[in-house]
Amino acid sequence: RQACWRCQSTLPIANSKVNANNAYIHIPNEAAKPRSQTKDDGLLAGWPTSIKANLCTADGLPTSCASKMLEDYVSPFEATAIGLLRSQGADIVGKTNCDEFGMGSANVHSAFGAVLNPNDTQSVAGGSSGGAAASVAEGSARIALGSDTGGSVRLPAAYCGVYGLKPSYGLISRWGLVSYADSLDTVGLLARSVDDIDLAFSVINAFDEQDPTAIDDDVRQEAVIAMNETVALTSGDDARPLEGLRVGIPHEYFPKELAHRTLGPLRETLRSMQRAGATLVPVNLPRTEVALSAYYVIASAEASSNLARYDGIRYGHRSNDDTGSEAPLDFHSHISRNRSSGFGPEVKRRILLGTYALTADAFDNYFLQAQRVRQLVRDDFDGVLRVRNVLRKQSSSTREDGVDILVHPATVDTAPRVDEQQKEIDGQQQQRQAQMAYVQDVLTVPSSLAGLPSLSIPAGKAQDNGLPVGVALTAQWGCEKLLFHVARSLT
Ligand code: GLN
Repeated sequence: RQACWRCQSTLPIANSKVNANNAYIHIPNEAAKPRSQTKDDGLLAGWPTSIKANLCTADGLPTSCASKMLEDYVSPFEATAIGLLRSQGADIVGKTNCDEFGMGSANVHSAFGAVLNPNDTQSVAGGSSGGAAASVAEGSARIALGSDTGGSVRLPAAYCGVYGLKPSYGLISRWGLVSYADSLDTVGLLARSVDDIDLAFSVINAFDEQDPTAIDDDVRQEAVIAMNETVALTSGDDARPLEGLRVGIPHEYFPKELAHRTLGPLRETLRSMQRAGATLVPVNLPRTEVALSAYYVIASAEASSNLARYDGIRYGHRSNDDTGSEAPLDFHSHISRNRSSGFGPEVKRRILLGTYALTADAFDNYFLQAQRVRQLVRDDFDGVLRVRNVLRKQSSSTREDGVDILVHPATVDTAPRVDEQQKEIDGQQQQRQAQMAYVQDVLTVPSSLAGLPSLSIPAGKAQDNGLPVGVALTAQWGCEKLLFHVARSLT
């Protein structure tokens, strides 16, 4: 497949082996690549790095968001996180495929076709950062920059058997990330080792005044102090690096949709934690079951507002379809034609849902209600975590009987098959299919609503189908180092 067939600024990929899993949709023309951009020193010197197609690069590669709407959009500026990676020598190898504008869980909603799972090409890579996960799993990239609004880094990481970090909201600059739902969007990382994630995270974890939701340095510092006061990250005894750690197992993260085959690797992970000295504590996060509905209302509402700018006049694809009429189109018909042909079906579904949630009739019952649920989801987490949430002044006391991290299955099942996701489906089935896809996110959206860091780690293979299974570790805001410490102790 010639994934770059539309791009003037890139070489067509003649050899399908180069992009066998369709992980990339824009690959730089080596000759055109400015030499000075790849430094031969720095913490990430020479690391092949892939960038999700919704992050702006100023290297001439399109930032298409895998949408026909922006298929030839070339950004005049670069995302802050990418600049930081380049400053440490990272070598950008290409822009990765994803679900259009980050909307989806299987990476089948892309104008450039589905991404295949390198572990089994009959299966999807997961979404929306499917290309990012596949690039790391297939070995063409050492680290991948993705985005996670409600699970888009963690879910494909779990399906592809790699590590995927959704950082605390506000730590990594969103400048240069094309907005899907601003209050939830984060820039995340994927890699084959926790050490690589840790190092790349330390490079991009910096205050940026260009991002209005970036958290100040003193609050970042306060979070690290709160964590160190509560949890001992290093233990004198190397054999028991998790001595004293309290690990919460949330009851609600085992819903009826959860496939049994994910449980073997999870049990194994929990046993290793116990061997390393951790204590397992059952906990309850009762608002988990309403989190998914709240997420889809909030994410769609924000998306409908963000995507309003793509009208083919100010930004985006302009339709050339012949209307068959001599009369010029009126303003609204013109915009409607551009948007109808520029957006794919999943994006249209979100715009309709979000626009409805924001109408005067539905606002109180849907949008405001979802915001209330979001607050309750935050309360749930703060109620069980021992480290205090430095962003919330009222919960300033440390809970001695709380837990340090939460551990649960990362996804409800292993990667679904590509053909099942792509079946030609009639209207009614399409509805069902969409709902099924949304269920995939039930375990990832609560920490997105609460803005907490969550790391998906590869935990082994499912016994029956041999596909990778991920386990998720979630901690208090700003406690990424704790996640890395725990993940490292399991390797
Ligand atoms: N699958 C979720 C959605 O479609 C999450 C996507 C994401 O995190 N970007 O909204």
